[in-house]
Amino acid sequence: MNLAIVSGKGGTGKTTVAVNLAAYMSRERDIRLLDADAEEPNAVLFFQADMSRDMAVSVMVPEILHEKCTRCRKCVEMCEYNALMMTRKGVLLSPDLCHSCGACMYVCPEKAILEKFRETGRIREYHCKAYPRLQVIEGDLHRGESRVTPVIDDVLSYAGPCTIIDAPPGTSCPVVETVKHADRVLVVTESTPFGLHDLKGVAAMLRLIRKPFQVVINRHGQGDDGVENWCKEEGIPVVLKIPFREDYARVIAGGGLLIEHFPRFREDMACLAKDLCGKGL
Ligand code: SF4
Ligand code: SF4
Repeated sequence: MNLAIVSGKGGTGKTTVAVNLAAYMSRERDIRLLDADAEEPNAVLFFQADMSRDMAVSVMVPEILHEKCTRCRKCVEMCEYNALMMTRKGVLLSPDLCHSCGACMYVCPEKAILEKFRETGRIREYHCKAYPRLQVIEGDLHRGESRVTPVIDDVLSYAGPCTIIDAPPGTSCPVVETVKHADRVLVVTESTPFGLHDLKGVAAMLRLIRKPFQVVINRHGQGDDGVENWCKEEGIPVVLKIPFREDYARVIAGGGLLIEHFPRFREDMACLAKDLCGKGL
């Protein structure tokens, strides 16, 4: 079973829940933690980990051979992503818009379009010293690259029987791409008006794609009751409330795991794990 952990924005505690839950559950079973937050992967920083594999993620991009091109425009008309444009200097490609479908190459009567590959990111696999049954796989999009989906797809291909996915924040396409592979979703939010606003956005997205989800409230006690009241009204289960504590914040800021420092948090993870295992994780 795949569990995705999501949040309406960054910094709400999504990775804190993902790494602690994965580490806790790996004491009894093999767990894969997939860091699909490929623009800012940081799950592995919480572990003393050795990298065992480092692989490139590449995408195909067409290359126009201008000396062969007769400017017939067939490729421009074929590209449904508007990645090709006819200019005075010939056919121009916008690499950010290209979806690597290959249709332009197929229609070019002059064979004036070549298939080239460009590295857009890396996939790294780690083993954790203190948690031998935990494997962390991260996707890392190169700076300046805009096409995150191929990196996320590669990370998600590592899903195993028990997988926890640290999803990208927000509700955009990369998040949908990530959660559509999940059986269950945990939404991490804060008990503030901003947290409620973001939660409503994530809930709307998950309902649209028909994914069952539950809520974790982080820094509980710091804000107001808006999130809890709204979840009650909507019939959304709140499975964990993580209290706002300065000693928690200090450990997280130092890259530590809360389960290693606080028995209460370990109990919280035990309850969450029990609930999820009852549902098949
Ligand atoms: S590969 Fe597909 S998306 Fe990219 S330029 Fe060609 S037709 Fe457009
Ligand atoms: S289809 Fe080929 S020949 Fe025609 S404009 Fe495109 S690259 Fe040039």
